[in-house]
Amino acid sequence: MQKTLILLKPDCVQRSLVGEIMNRFERKGLKIVAMKMIHLDDEVLKDHYAHLADKPFFPGLANFMKASPVIALALEGHSAVEVVRTLVGATSGRKADVGSIRGDYSISVSANLIHASDTPENAEIELKRFFKEGEIFNYQRVDVDFIYADDEK
Ligand code: UDP
Ligand code: MG
Repeated sequence: MQKTLILLKPDCVQRSLVGEIMNRFERKGLKIVAMKMIHLDDEVLKDHYAHLADKPFFPGLANFMKASPVIALALEGHSAVEVVRTLVGATSGRKADVGSIRGDYSISVSANLIHASDTPENAEIELKRFFKEGEIFNYQRVDVDFIYADDEK
C-alpha cells in the first residue's frame, strides 16, 4: 500500500472544514496513519515549495501558509497519491471539477484548502519532512476486507 502526505492548510482550519474534508478521505477508504497540528515556518516552507521559490506569488503563499496552524496527515491506500490528487482536484478552486474538494469548497488559486503530494517519489520526501519515524502508524482497519478485493490488498 502507498502513503501520501496531506496538509490541511490555514484556510481549511480557519473555515472549520477540517472534519468535513477528513470525512471525504475516510469515506473513500483511505486509512489515516499519521496526524498532527503544526505551525509552519519559513525554513520548512522554503523546502516544501522549493519548486515555486522564484514565483512572484511565493512571499504571499508563504505568509498564507504561516497564518495559522495546519494539520499534517499521512494517508495510506492503494495508489493513494493518485487517488488523493483526484479527490483534491485542480490547483485553482475556480477550475477544479465540481465534486472534488477544491471544486466544492474553494474559489481561489492560493487558498485552495489542501496540499497533497503529486508523485510517489515526492510523497516519500514530504512524509519525511513532516513526520519522524514512529509517528506513522502501522495497523489494520477492521473494514479492510470490504474496502478491497483480495488481490488489491
Ligand atoms: N499557488 C499560488 N498561485 C499560483 C499557483 C500556486 O498561490 O499561481 C499556491 C497554491 O496554494 C498551490 C501551491 O501554491 O496549492 C503549490 O502549487 P502547485 O503548483 O504545487 O499546486 P498543487 O500541487 O497544490 O495543486
Ligand atoms: Mg504541488
